[in-house]
Amino acid sequence: MVDYVVYGRGAFNQLDAILAPRRTGDAPMIFLLDHQFEQAADLHARIPLRGNDQLIIADVTNEPKTSYVDALADQLKDTFGTVSGIIGIGGGSVMDLAKAVALMMTNPGKAQDYQGWDLVKVSGVYKAGIPTLSGTGAEVSRTCVLTGPERKLGMNSDFTPFDQIVLDPDLIKSAPVNQRFYTGMDCYIHCIESLEGTYLNAFSKSYGEKALELCQEIFLTPDWTDESDEKLMMASYFGGMSIAYSQVGVAHAVSYGLSYLLGTKHGIGNCIVFNHLEEYYPKGVAEFKEMVRRNNIHIPEGICAGLSDADFDTMINVSLGMKPLWENALGKDWESKISREKLRALYERL
Ligand code: ZN
Repeated sequence: MVDYVVYGRGAFNQLDAILAPRRTGDAPMIFLLDHQFEQAADLHARIPLRGNDQLIIADVTNEPKTSYVDALADQLKDTFGTVSGIIGIGGGSVMDLAKAVALMMTNPGKAQDYQGWDLVKVSGVYKAGIPTLSGTGAEVSRTCVLTGPERKLGMNSDFTPFDQIVLDPDLIKSAPVNQRFYTGMDCYIHCIESLEGTYLNAFSKSYGEKALELCQEIFLTPDWTDESDEKLMMASYFGGMSIAYSQVGVAHAVSYGLSYLLGTKHGIGNCIVFNHLEEYYPKGVAEFKEMVRRNNIHIPEGICAGLSDADFDTMINVSLGMKPLWENALGKDWESKISREKLRALYERL
C-alpha cells in the first residue's frame, strides 16, 4: 500500500515541504512530467526544483516500454550515481514509468527481468506519484505496466507502490473530455471486473462498491463540475484499492492484446473491448453504453479490420498469457471456457 496520501484542492502546493525530509545530501529529486505539459509554464513554475534537481519531460506517446525505463535509469545513474527520489506527475503511463525507474535505480539487470509477480528483489529509491488524469488507479496499484520485448506485463511487487501520493483535483480539471472519459471508464471497468470476479473478498468489495457508486454519480449525470473531478479522483483511488486484493478480468485481458500489437492506449482499448462483452458482464456493459451515450463519446469500431492470422495469433497469445485475469473472470476452469477460436471471434468484432 501507499505509505502517505495527501488529498485536497491545491495540495500540489505542499510538494516542496513533502519532499524536503526525503532529500539525501546532494542527491537530486527527479521529476518526470507528462509530455502533454511540456509547454505548461505555469505548472513548471510550481514544481519545487532545488539544487541539481532535474525536470524530465516523459514521452508517453506510447505506453512505457522496458527499454525506456532502462534508458532513464541508466542515464540517471551515469549522471548522478544515485538520486533522492523519482516524482511522477501525469497520467497512468507517467506514474507507472516513475515507479519502474525508481525500482531500476537499485535493482540489478533490466526492467524486463522483473515483468511478472514478485520478482523485484529490493526496494527502489523514494517515489511519489501525482496524477493529472484519474481512473487507472496507477497511483495506488502494486504494479507498473510495461511493454517489454516479449510481453506486456507489470513489475508487480510489494516494492512497487508509491511511498507518497498527492491527490489534487485541480490538476485533473483541464483533461480533454474524451481522454477523461476513457480513463474514467478504466476505473468503472476495474470495478465491474473486480466485483464480478471469483477473487472478490470483503476488502475488494468494500472499495469496489464505493468506486462504482462514485463512477455512476459522475458519468450518469449530465454536467461536469468541480465536484465531479473530486469524486473521480477518489473513484480511481478506491478502484485501484479494490483490485489490490482481487484482479481485473476479460476486458483487460483482451485489451492487453490490442495494446501489445496495435499500441492502443489502455483506457480507450478497454472501452473498445468492454463495448462487446455483454456475454460476460451484461449489466455493466448496458450501463457503460448508457454512460457513452449520455457523455456523447465515440467508441471506435473496426480496429482489427485487415489484420493477418499472425496478428490475431499474437494478440491471442498475449491475452491468454494473462492467466490470473482469466481465472478471476471465469474461475479455475477458465481454460475450458475460453478457446483461441472464441477469442479470435471476439477480436474480429472489435
Ligand atoms: Zn485498467
